[in-house]
Amino acid sequence: MRKIETDFLVIGAGLIGSGVAMGLARQQVDRAIVVDLDLAGEWSSSELNAGGVRATWSQKVNLLTSKFSIEYFMQHAEAVGYRDCGYLWLHRPETWTGALKAREMHVAHGWDVDVLDVAGLKNKVPFIDKTDDLVGGLFGKKDGLVNPNRLKEHFREIAVAKGVQLMDGVWVTGATAPGTHSDAWTIRAFQFSGLLSSEHKKRILSENPEQLGSESGEWLEIKCKNLVNCAGAWAPHIAKLAGYACPSVPVRRQISLFHARDVDLNQYGMIVDPSGVYFHPESIYGLSGFATPGEVEGYNFQYDAERFFEEQIWAPLHERATVFESLKHVSGWAGLYENSPDHHAIIGAVDGQKNLFEAHSFSGHGAMQSYGVGVALSELMVKGRYESLDLNELSGARFANGRTIPGETWVI
Ligand SMILES: Cc1cc2nc3c(=O)[nH]c(=O)nc-3n(C[C@H](O)[C@H](O)[C@H](O)COP(=O)(O)OP(=O)(O)OC[C@H]3O[C@@H](n4cnc5c(N)ncnc54)[C@H](O)[C@@H]3O)c2cc1C
Repeated sequence: MRKIETDFLVIGAGLIGSGVAMGLARQQVDRAIVVDLDLAGEWSSSELNAGGVRATWSQKVNLLTSKFSIEYFMQHAEAVGYRDCGYLWLHRPETWTGALKAREMHVAHGWDVDVLDVAGLKNKVPFIDKTDDLVGGLFGKKDGLVNPNRLKEHFREIAVAKGVQLMDGVWVTGATAPGTHSDAWTIRAFQFSGLLSSEHKKRILSENPEQLGSESGEWLEIKCKNLVNCAGAWAPHIAKLAGYACPSVPVRRQISLFHARDVDLNQYGMIVDPSGVYFHPESIYGLSGFATPGEVEGYNFQYDAERFFEEQIWAPLHERATVFESLKHVSGWAGLYENSPDHHAIIGAVDGQKNLFEAHSFSGHGAMQSYGVGVALSELMVKGRYESLDLNELSGARFANGRTIPGETWVI
């Protein structure tokens, strides 16, 4: 068994773990290690998301965390692949009053959102011609898209330049809390030798094994003063190993790529239909996603291909625009949302545990908040308080002590 010591151990190197590593580096922390089964993140949510970034939310904490992050993406647009192509939200009468109220909050906090009536909508997006059920739309001008891979690499470059270490092929299987004999966490992990196949990684990430039988590699014992759970959809599993409860669940979300033969989507940004289907241009194709109602929780990466595209993407899009009749399915994939009960992330010090922190359960908006969360959580861990953003209300303690906060409703 190889023994390692560090000040901070971050479990999970997706956008959140990499963002936290960046934040720690900015706080001059150099004794930090980030471990992941797969640094490339083939099955991670950070690899399989839609790249949308927006500050148009129903709740202020999400508006401010996204705004703080997107303003950074704007300043580093080239490095992170940010495009200010906007988010256009189409509304039916039943959601319009609430949307306009949320827009007042957006504008009050310096986030420009245009109000469009149906004529304005048709002018902005002429190919949307079936508007009888619509009352108008909101357009978040600085909302847009990033390249999640470039963003993750950007965070990692900053972290590694400061001395933060990234360890690949490491699967965490156990955690012992600081006690009478040690003031550090003791983490048990297995480091695989050689590259794992795609199927092998998927099997581990689907089954969450605590025993690894006859695999080839070596066991690690990592002593860390501070432990950070950034394991995304696997955060409940890490929480269990560390001795606390996490109320989130992994849920499959599917995305289709399609060829739009009769319309050039490249001049538009993200468009969110009231049906819940969203779409945006993605290189030479369109990318579209939808939250299948009644999706069963679990580690399911199965993409339902033509059936999903035909029934859940093409049908509602064709209801919205005649030019979508000729959409052609190209490919697609499934990744995991990490849904919390109120659709807010869980961030902060873990209640009742020593030197244990967490940032996960983003419920589908972790990419766009990764910068703000990395900066803010690192401040909390190093300085003992939030400075750049106040994320206190997102503490996991809200579920145990009944300090519930209004749920986030602008979730797609
Ligand atoms: C289809 C889809 C579309 C989305 N669209 C958007 C969007 O448009 N905008 C947006 O902001 N967000 C979007 N999201 C959500 C976003 O992708 C996630 O919130 C974000 O990527 C979460 O990042 P993370 O680092 O917490 O998790 P992940 O990227 O999943 O990283 C967690 C890592 O932990 C590792 N890990 C887990 N358990 C262990 C263990 N025991 N030992 C070692 N390593 C472990 C995993 O290997 C993984 O790499 C979308 C998600 C999906 C699935």
